[in-house]
Amino acid sequence: MRVLITGGAGFIGSHLAEALLAADHRVTIMDNLSTGRFENIAHLVGHPAFHFAIDSITNDIVLDRLTSECDLVFHLAAAVGVELIVRQPVHTIETNVMGTEAVLRTAARYRARVLIASTSEVYGKGSRVPFNEADDVLLGPTNKSRWAYAASKMVDEFLGLAYYQEQGLPVTIMRFFNTIGPRQTGRYGMVIPRLVAQALAGQPLTVYGDGQQSRCFCDVADVVRAALALAARPDTAGEVFNIGGSEEISILDLARLILQVLFPQAPPADDDPRIQFVAYADAYAPGFEDMRRRVPDTSKLRALTGWAPAIPLPETIRRVADTLGRQAPISERVRA
Ligand code: UDP
Repeated sequence: MRVLITGGAGFIGSHLAEALLAADHRVTIMDNLSTGRFENIAHLVGHPAFHFAIDSITNDIVLDRLTSECDLVFHLAAAVGVELIVRQPVHTIETNVMGTEAVLRTAARYRARVLIASTSEVYGKGSRVPFNEADDVLLGPTNKSRWAYAASKMVDEFLGLAYYQEQGLPVTIMRFFNTIGPRQTGRYGMVIPRLVAQALAGQPLTVYGDGQQSRCFCDVADVVRAALALAARPDTAGEVFNIGGSEEISILDLARLILQVLFPQAPPADDDPRIQFVAYADAYAPGFEDMRRRVPDTSKLRALTGWAPAIPLPETIRRVADTLGRQAPISERVRA
């Protein structure tokens, strides 16, 4: 296949590019390096089947040319990270809605397949766990900018599915849940790179709220495997798929697990001073609303492709620590 990855220099996009090249596909990435980083793809430059354009997907001319040369588009370019989203709501809404609109409009011109990266955020405050693709969604009020992100990704999904229904464009939606792994940065709020960097720097691990909120983390290699399985199935057009981990863990237990994995000689004690609780209002903004539990139901993807996550959380934590440890200096990473 000839594949275009928008946001291909980002955390998930760069891993996807590697996997596609390893499977002998031709890969072009388009990334404006807003949250993506050139160092994520530097090792791919020079590969005969790899091309890249440092540009925004709102550059119609470049997007048109690159799309005309491909069979399939992985659309991953988006505003990401709860901290960034809360800080820059205009950028978030415009990037997500206008970017996806441009990608779909252009793909329709060349009848290219599109797989859109969406997010578990669209389930909002839904309380029926685990979250199923057919569930209702429940978002908070419009004066809380976190929900603008969820709403913008919902518009992306609606638009993609509308292109499928109205124009027969083969669009598949991938709802990613808390993907983790090397190259994810803590700069935009993500908990695992932040806590691992803090632990490596000998700083307290910041647990927001009471730490009883829970997530299911999924290694990026497992997520990429799911994305490739969907890419191999054109019959998934018009459908939405959850992609996420199966082990639910509270953020407090996550902080304890990180300490245990990184410092087996000094396992966490009750009321461990290396863990610091931070009020949500101090971490984000007054009135911030978090999701209490977020658990995916991935039975739809499993039934279709046999996919299941395989990499245990401690192993990913170790790999994240290895890559962060190689990037000096840790203290700067924590500040970032
Ligand atoms: N979190 C935390 N400490 C941090 C960063 C995040 O306790 O330094 C919490 C955050 O409030 C949320 C969870 O960890 O409850 C996961 O946050 P992340 O931003 O990684 O993903 P989210 O699930 O919010 O999209």
